[in-house]
Amino acid sequence: MSDNMSSISCANCHTPIPEPHLNESGEKKPCSSCGSTLRNYGQELAAEVMMHATLAFKARSPGRRPFALGFVGASFHRLTGAWHQVERVVFRDKNLYREKVTDESGRVIRDVQHPLTDHKGHGDDRGPRTPDT
Ligand SMILES: [Zn+2]
Repeated sequence: MSDNMSSISCANCHTPIPEPHLNESGEKKPCSSCGSTLRNYGQELAAEVMMHATLAFKARSPGRRPFALGFVGASFHRLTGAWHQVERVVFRDKNLYREKVTDESGRVIRDVQHPLTDHKGHGDDRGPRTPDT
């Protein structure tokens, strides 16, 4: 049996539909059990992946080192075992360090902003992990 095929099932009765679900004219075949043409395509898995997607960026002028860099995305908090949303931006040209952390319900856990020169790193300022403070 193929794992790829088994991720497609009828949205109505959840019968696995292993064969290609389009017929020759490009229309969906009805489910062999209930006749529904609605399908599930493992959407729960796709949503989970998107939720924990991250974005890192750098902004630079041509020929110069980046003047701003940041990280936006999910970070796993080991102490609580929860996923936190992290926004971390460093503006080198403005000497500014900013970090905001919210939990999955949107509650602000950490919202700090201070001069970059005052920022004492925790071993990995640029990495995706939240410092254990
Ligand atoms: Zn069905």
